[in-house]
Amino acid sequence: MPFAGNMFSGKWGGTMCLTEAGAGSSVGDNRCKATPTDDPEVYLLEGEKIFISGGDQDLTENICHLVLARTPNAGRGTKGLSLFVVPKYLTDETGALGARNGAHVLGIEHKMGIHGNATCTLGLGSRGPCKGFLVGQENQGIELMFLMMNEARIGVAAQGQAIAAAAYGFARTYAKDRVQGQALQSGKNPDAPPVAIVQHPDVRRMLMLQKVYSETMRSLLCKLALDFDLMHESADAAERERLKGRVDLWTPIVKATCTDLGFEVATLAVQTYGGYGYIGEYPVEQLVRDAKIASIYEGTNGIQAMDLVGRKLRVGGGALFIEWMNAANATLAEAAAAGLGAAAEALGKAVQMLAGSAMHLAGLGKARKVEAAMLQASPFLRMFGTVLLGMEAIEQAMVARRLAGERGESALFTGKQRNLEFFVATLLPQAIALGKTVQSGDESCLDPSLF
Ligand SMILES: Cc1cc2nc3c(=O)[nH]c(=O)nc-3n(C[C@H](O)[C@H](O)[C@H](O)COP(=O)(O)OP(=O)(O)OC[C@H]3O[C@@H](n4cnc5c(N)ncnc54)[C@H](O)[C@@H]3O)c2cc1C
Repeated sequence: MPFAGNMFSGKWGGTMCLTEAGAGSSVGDNRCKATPTDDPEVYLLEGEKIFISGGDQDLTENICHLVLARTPNAGRGTKGLSLFVVPKYLTDETGALGARNGAHVLGIEHKMGIHGNATCTLGLGSRGPCKGFLVGQENQGIELMFLMMNEARIGVAAQGQAIAAAAYGFARTYAKDRVQGQALQSGKNPDAPPVAIVQHPDVRRMLMLQKVYSETMRSLLCKLALDFDLMHESADAAERERLKGRVDLWTPIVKATCTDLGFEVATLAVQTYGGYGYIGEYPVEQLVRDAKIASIYEGTNGIQAMDLVGRKLRVGGGALFIEWMNAANATLAEAAAAGLGAAAEALGKAVQMLAGSAMHLAGLGKARKVEAAMLQASPFLRMFGTVLLGMEAIEQAMVARRLAGERGESALFTGKQRNLEFFVATLLPQAIALGKTVQSGDESCLDPSLF
C-alpha cells in the first residue's frame, strides 16, 4: 500500500502510537497484541493506545497510525515489540480509499494547552478487525520507532525554542508600549513623566533572559539539525561516525534544555506583562499552557537525563563527552585569540566543572551507586545544557565581532556582545552551582522514610 509517499506529500496524516495506560515512560510494558493472519504482511491488532497526538482529524483523507505491538511468543520488554502501520482507511495499491479499518477514537483527552491538536484514546480491534501492516521485521519495532523519535525529540526541542522566541517577541513589544511608573533617575520628583516599563531595570533583566535564552537556543538547535543532516550526507565515513556520536550525545540535552527553557521564558513573558499576561485576551498565557507539554512528551525530561547519564556518557568509556570537550576547548582558545579572553576563561572553568561532574557520576556508576548517580542526572543535564548555550553565546559574539570588522554590522555586534556579558555574569554561575550539586554526594531525598 502506498503509505510513505502519501505521508511525505502531506496528503495523509500520521501518528506515533506508543503510550498505553500501563506503559508511559516504560514503553517495554506495552500490551497491545498483534496476531499474524494467512497474509504474511497483515496482522490483526488488539489493544488501547492513549494520548495519541492527531489521533483523529478530518484535515487529511487518511491517517496512518504507527503502532507498537507484541506478536505471539515475542519476548518481554522493548526487544519484543514490532511496528505496524495501521491506516484509518484500508486502501488498494493505487492509494484509493477502501473500507474503514478497526482503529477508532474512544475518547478525547481534555488538555491544559495545545488545543489545536486532538489528543485521543484509540481502540484497536474493539469495533471490528484492525489490520496492521508490519514495518521491517518482527521485534524490530523499538529500533525503527527510535529512528523517528530521535528526530521528533529535536522537533520538540524546536517547539520549546519557538515558544520562547514568540514569548520574547510579544513581551518586548508590550514592554515598549505599556506606560507605568517613573524612571528611577527622576528620583522622587512627582512631576516626572511616566515611562514605558521597558525602562525599568527589572523589566530589562527579564527581557534579557528571554532574549539570551531564545537566541542561544536557536543556534544550538540549528547546529544539532545540521549535524543530524551531515550525519547522513557526509561523504566521509569517519566524519559520519563522529557526527552520529555528537547527535547521540546532544539530543537528550537539547530536548530537555530547550523545552524546560521554553516554558521558563513563556512564564517570564507573562511576568513582563504583569496582570495582563495572565488574562486570556493577551497572547502569552497560551504560550505557557502550550509550552508545558514539551518537557513531558517524546520522553519526559527526566528520562532524557537518564539517557544522557546512563547511556550516552558511558559510550566508549566517555568517548562522546571527550570528543565534545576537546572541540569546546578548541573553540574557547579561538575565542580568546579573537579578544574574548575573559568570557573564554569563565566558560573554560564551567567546561572543567562539567568534566569533573561527569567523572564523579562515572565513579558512582563504578561503585554501583546507581540511585545516587541517577539522582543527579537532571541537574547534570541542566548544567550541560547551560554550558552548551554559553558556548553558543561566545561563538555568536565571535562571529558578530568578525562581521562588525568586515561589514560594520554594529547593532548585531552590540547585541551578541551584551548577550555574552549577561550570560557569563548571570547564567554561567548557575552551571557552576549545579556542578556543586552534582558532586555534593547528598542523598537526602533517597531516605525511604520521607515519601
Ligand atoms: C498532550 C499529549 C500528547 C501526547 N502525544 C503522544 C503521542 O502522539 N504518542 C504517544 O505514544 N504518546 C503520546 N503522549 C504520551 C507521552 O509520551 C507520555 O505521557 C510520556 O511519555 C510520559 O508517560 P506517562 O504520562 O505515563 O508518565 P509516567 O511514565 O507515569 O511518568 C510520570 C513521572 O515519573 C517519571 N518516571 C517514570 N519512569 C521513570 C523512571 N524509570 N525513572 C525516573 N523517572 C521516571 C517521569 O519522568 C515523570 O516525571 C502524549 C502525552 C500528552 C499529554
